[in-house]
Order: sequence, then structure tokens, then C-alpha cells
Amino acid sequence: MPEVRNCKRCKKIFMYVLGPQICDECKKREEEDYEKVRRFVKDYPGATIQEVSAATEVPTTLIYRFLREGRLEVSDESPITLQCENCGVRIRSGRFCIECSKRLARDMLNAGRSLNDVLRSEVSRDKDNVGLRYLHGERKDK
Ligand SMILES: [Zn+2]
Ligand SMILES: [Zn+2]
Repeated sequence: MPEVRNCKRCKKIFMYVLGPQICDECKKREEEDYEKVRRFVKDYPGATIQEVSAATEVPTTLIYRFLREGRLEVSDESPITLQCENCGVRIRSGRFCIECSKRLARDMLNAGRSLNDVLRSEVSRDKDNVGLRYLHGERKDK
């Protein structure tokens, strides 16, 4: 369902539907930025992120985001790297290295299972409390 939001980039109010919280104008601008960066790293695979940012006038934070989103790929010899948010190892795109992604997926499964256990015990505790609540209610009535 569309709703009114503030664009994260230009703070303008726009109708938000899906995806990143930016307006159409900024989306278009970001596409252009992405194209500039993509072309530059292809032409200059040895450039650092500061050099790319200076040449394309695209902020480094945005370049990092393109990398994290997996849209932008850099060559193996590129000094531009991301770090796994979990173990800090060098990665080329995304948020986690392959090992951590695997482990996190497994952890999430385990967490899901224990969350279900928690929910189940909450429900049974509520059932136990029904009698107690009824008793309190009766006492108040008298
Ligand atoms: Zn905008
Ligand atoms: Zn890792």
C-alpha cells in the first residue's frame, strides 16, 4: 500500500511503494551514479574508493552501498573492498563472507525454532493464568 514518506536523499515528500525510501527523481540520479561508478571501476580497476568517488562525484557511502547490495562488482585486484560484518574478512559484495552467511542462516533456523518454543510456553502460561484471573475478578465483584 502506497504511503507518504520523506525521501532519504533529498527529504522531499513522495508516495512510497516498495524498495529503497527514495523518490523517483533520486532513484534516477542514483541510477546515473551507479552507471558512472560501474564504468569507472571497469576502466580503472586499480582505483581506490576515494579516487572513484573523486572522479565520479559519487559519495563513498553510496559506492559502498552499491557493493553491499551486490549491484557493483569490483575485480580481484581492486583496492576497494568490503568487510564481512561478522568476522571482518575481505569480501567483494554483500554483507557477510560465505562462511558467515552459512552460519547465520543456520543460526536463524535455530533461533526460529527456539522462538516457537517461547511462543508455545507463553500460550500455556496464559492458559494457567485464566483461572487465577477469574478468581481475582470474582473477588473484585464482591
Ligand atoms: Zn529524493
Ligand atoms: Zn565472515
